[in-house]
Amino acid sequence: MIFLLLMGPPGSGKGTQAKMLEDRLGLRHLSTGDLIRAEISQGTTRGKEFEQRINQGMLVEDSQIFDLLRNYLVKIDSRGVILDGFPRTTQQAHMLNDLAAELSASITGVFSLTIDDRAIVDRLGARLVCQSCGASFNKTTKPPRLDDICDLCGGPLGVRSDDRPETVLVRLQDYAKRRDDIASFYQNKHLWHDVDADRAPELVCDAICRIFKNNVGKGESKA
Ligand code: AMP
Repeated sequence: MIFLLLMGPPGSGKGTQAKMLEDRLGLRHLSTGDLIRAEISQGTTRGKEFEQRINQGMLVEDSQIFDLLRNYLVKIDSRGVILDGFPRTTQQAHMLNDLAAELSASITGVFSLTIDDRAIVDRLGARLVCQSCGASFNKTTKPPRLDDICDLCGGPLGVRSDDRPETVLVRLQDYAKRRDDIASFYQNKHLWHDVDADRAPELVCDAICRIFKNNVGKGESKA
């Protein structure tokens, strides 16, 4: 199995890129944010704890998110996975290395989507998410056909509670604080690639695919 890692601040388009890359590269998209939201929607004790943390813009604890991820990865049968939102700390990067070794998997590249904070606050303020199926829309760039109704399932659309500007700013500061350590970790392994994400999603995806194809098998891909 291979792991392709997508990094970037909230709102940099990781989810959109992951979906496009799924089709282009035949890998499976795995968002740790989605794993957490699934747990929250089940109303478990752990889910309630997660909800409190993410509504304050805080990260879920490393060991808890790692358990969710590991449980998912040991069960799936796939050529590879696009990890969207993991690792978010250097501790998680180390945990992922160990997991890759356990699963005989390789990390083939870490793609860091770069975009400035101002563009992000605008983007996230316009994001609408279906409360039933999780589909994502945008008031300006991808509006739903009917106001506040999901095109796909007819469910109600709403703003994610952690997309409020005050929470977004906390999430951006938190990302900036952690990014450099994670970048050094993967730069040392020659796996880190910065990609300009402030352009059309197709162009961002082309850039990632070009680098991916040129670099598979290079760098320190085994954990
Ligand atoms: P996302 O959908 O990736 O923006 O994630 C939403 C929220 O889930 C984040 O703001 C964090 O609170 C939490 N989260 C997602 N992935 C992780 C992770 N790898 N480690 C800790 N918390 C996470």
